[in-house]
Amino acid sequence: MTGEKTTNIKVAVRVRPYNEREMEQNQRCIVKVMDKSTLLFDPDEEDDEFFFQGTKQHYRDITKRMNKKLSMDFDRVFDIHNTNEDLFEECTAPLVDAVLNGYNCSVFVYGATGAGKTFTMLGSDVYPGLTFLTMRDLFEKIQSQQELRKFDVGCTYLEVYNEQVMNLLTKSGPLKLREDSNGVVVSGLALTPIYSADELLRMLALGNSQRTQHPTDANAESSRSHAIFQVHIRITDRKTDTKRTVKLSMIDLAGSERAASTRGIGVRFKEGASINKSLLALGNCINKLADGLKHIPYRDSNLTRILKDSLGGNCRTLMVANVSMSSLTYEDTYNTLKYASRAKKI
Ligand code: ADP
Ligand code: MG
Repeated sequence: MTGEKTTNIKVAVRVRPYNEREMEQNQRCIVKVMDKSTLLFDPDEEDDEFFFQGTKQHYRDITKRMNKKLSMDFDRVFDIHNTNEDLFEECTAPLVDAVLNGYNCSVFVYGATGAGKTFTMLGSDVYPGLTFLTMRDLFEKIQSQQELRKFDVGCTYLEVYNEQVMNLLTKSGPLKLREDSNGVVVSGLALTPIYSADELLRMLALGNSQRTQHPTDANAESSRSHAIFQVHIRITDRKTDTKRTVKLSMIDLAGSERAASTRGIGVRFKEGASINKSLLALGNCINKLADGLKHIPYRDSNLTRILKDSLGGNCRTLMVANVSMSSLTYEDTYNTLKYASRAKKI
């Protein structure tokens, strides 16, 4: 990605195309992509070239916060024409190189339910997502380096739901986290050894089928859980026999809409509260890391505890903030962009 920032945290925004409902309702466009790193949130009508199918909008404003005309900068802004391949090439292919050079890397997709997180991360058979493209690349690069280095690959797939940690690859009860000198350990979690990209993707599919509900179901329970897919690689230098272990984490975060407002009581409230907690904690950690602060509040949630060794330090972090550009999602889009720009703030 472009940009000479010294921080190891990159923030990209991805704007998805209108869905059918947004098309039908013919609403105002609230995100205008200016260039590869700038967008205008809530532009004036005269700024807006993206009128739905070229017809002028007569939008009756229902919110009082119209036309903020907020110009926002990110490391990269992807518009509706960009593909998962584009995101892979610009954002995660460099991370594969970083992982193989010994840096832990993590990729987060953030956004409200329906904003395009799962499309970006998992994709579909026709449009494979970042996980597929990144894993395929990882194994190709591993193959090409076999003579010099030996790679032992394993994976884990966890779900954090209501602050409970579940293993998606084998059926078991909630897992406990404990601290040891190296960091946080998930008790009873075994690595599944992997020998090819296909196998890795089979584990991913297996995990998805075990999720609280399948992640591609719209508005499913899965929108309230975080899915953490981690590839662990032990790299042995064949000449010197030195070893090191690195991790690549791909995280499909829970829908951020409940992070902004928690409503209701009982089960729902608890779900809301704990998602709030994890997303809030993640935002705080990334924010403090970007600010170069020493004390990082990893302990504030299970999500950040699990990812402690994959955030900060020498790690490379990519956050893809997914948004819709229809005014139907005004609040969600605004909150997501605010979260993303706070994550980037230096
Ligand atoms: P989330 O996981 O954030 O809840 P999804 O990824 O499930 O959202 O996306 C919601 C819907 O929008 C899905 O039907 C998905 O296929 C579609 N969609 C999301 N992003 C894109 C995109 N960039 N291009 C085309 N369709 C998209
Ligand atoms: Mg999803």
